[in-house]
Amino acid sequence: MKTMNIYDVIIIGAGPAGLTAAMYTSRACLKTLIIENPSIMSQAGYAVLVENFPGFTQGVSGPQFIANLKSQAISLGAELIVGNVNSVKFLKQQNHGIWQINTLDKTYRALSQIVASGASARKLDIPDEDRFLGKGLSYCATCDGAFFKDKEIAVIGGGNSAVEEAIFLTRFAGKVTIIHRRDKLRATRFLQEKAFSNKRIDILWNSIVDKILGDSKVSGLRLKNLDTNTLRELRCEGVFVSIGKIPNTEFLKGVTSLDDNGYVITDRELKTSEKGIFACGDCRDTFLRQIVTACGDGALAAYSCQQYIEQR
Ligand SMILES: Cc1cc2nc3c(=O)[nH]c(=O)nc-3n(C[C@H](O)[C@H](O)[C@H](O)COP(=O)(O)OP(=O)(O)OC[C@H]3O[C@@H](n4cnc5c(N)ncnc54)[C@H](O)[C@@H]3O)c2cc1C
Repeated sequence: MKTMNIYDVIIIGAGPAGLTAAMYTSRACLKTLIIENPSIMSQAGYAVLVENFPGFTQGVSGPQFIANLKSQAISLGAELIVGNVNSVKFLKQQNHGIWQINTLDKTYRALSQIVASGASARKLDIPDEDRFLGKGLSYCATCDGAFFKDKEIAVIGGGNSAVEEAIFLTRFAGKVTIIHRRDKLRATRFLQEKAFSNKRIDILWNSIVDKILGDSKVSGLRLKNLDTNTLRELRCEGVFVSIGKIPNTEFLKGVTSLDDNGYVITDRELKTSEKGIFACGDCRDTFLRQIVTACGDGALAAYSCQQYIEQR
């Protein structure tokens, strides 16, 4: 019978958090496997230019940054494979248990796991949303904005990301309309002032998207005014949805404590409620979600994990 490889640690996610954690666990001589879902790109990979990571005075493109982290983690000894983790299970053994990590088609075992699965864009949850994806509808202005040169675009949302994306999109678009469900933006005052003073940005208040219009691609939106309950149509060829994130933590439901929004609850050492599971980066309940904080988290989770393995 073939014996299954048991890793010291399996890291779920290959973004800044997971890859930094892998560098630390590998350098601490822990046998490390990173599993990356091929259909969810690290959010950092979407950044056109990362200007706020210390040490890169000219900035660095998101994809280049992730490629660097991957080769650094691998050169320090970590293994990286693709797989969509859909469940984790604790297997009781004599003294300590081990974790079984299941992807859609394979099973892996480890003494511990570091969850670094990040977050994904929240959807509008209206009919035809999936059908229009890539046909005028996008969740990432930095990725797809350039396809809308001189076109009319709608941005859905009113937080920092939505307003930042609207401002960014004016580099390409003829006109950008922000559609926001409330009567004031949630974005910082600095961003609000930038948006209000931008002649190419319009804002439609108290409005939600009722329907995406178009045949084979987006041609407009049907909007509902929440004050008057009336419908109106807005002509646009691009729609960028920026209404928040959902943590990629489905596989942890019922295993470890999650907050009401699904973010993993950790203590200051990034231990979760379950022994042997650590969490880091955007998937955890934290105050700031950036590359630099994800990397810092990765180092801390790896250090806690290393201590856990030593004490076992
Ligand atoms: C468009 C955009 C621009 C940004 N620009 C900046 C910037 O300029 N500066 C900055 O500091 N921050 C920026 N951010 C935020 C930054 O990218 C995130 O804070 C950071 O990437 C979080 O890192 P992470 O490792 O926690 O998660 P992520 O980078 O999201 O990585 C998550 C990883 O988990 C994997 N994964 C998810 N689910 C599973 C599963 N079930 N099984 C296996 N693997 C799984 C994914 O494949 C991915 O590899 C930007 C974000 C976006 C969306």
